Amino acid sequence: MVFSFICDFDVFFSKYAKDHNHRMLITHSLIPSLIIILLGFIFNWLALIFSGILYFIHILVDTFDWGTNLFFLHKKPVGIKTLISEEELENLPKYLANYKHDESFFDEKYYTNKASIAIEIILFVIMMVTIIIFALEYIFITIFYFMGLYFHLARHFHLKKLEAR
Ligand SMILES: [Zn+2]
Repeated sequence: MVFSFICDFDVFFSKYAKDHNHRMLITHSLIPSLIIILLGFIFNWLALIFSGILYFIHILVDTFDWGTNLFFLHKKPVGIKTLISEEELENLPKYLANYKHDESFFDEKYYTNKASIAIEIILFVIMMVTIIIFALEYIFITIFYFMGLYFHLARHFHLKKLEAR
């Protein structure tokens, strides 16, 4: 479970990333997940193999919204990037200049996208239903989901307030 989101803590190293985008760091390429899976096979440790697969899926999912540095060879994030167009990516400074805080551009794109919100709700329902049916004794784990949800929504409304000033 932890391996499915651990790579996003690379956001604390954003300042070392190209364009200060943490998705351009090696931690957001397929390389770490392949190493973890390989180590899982070497040590014959099933939990580690599953951890690597979850990490791998995270990186693939990140190609859908903003793109990511999939093979760690790219100069720009790759993927189908449903939330940002090539034109916006090429002229990013121009778009960011419309906001007081750069993050607000990305935040607004995400929260005004109906598909993003619909997917959030659908995944939440699937998560709750599968945990209740198959692993009710682990229901307390959803506390981490609600902590993450609170963090992201608080950030969203904080940014909205700053931009409205
Ligand atoms: Zn990520």
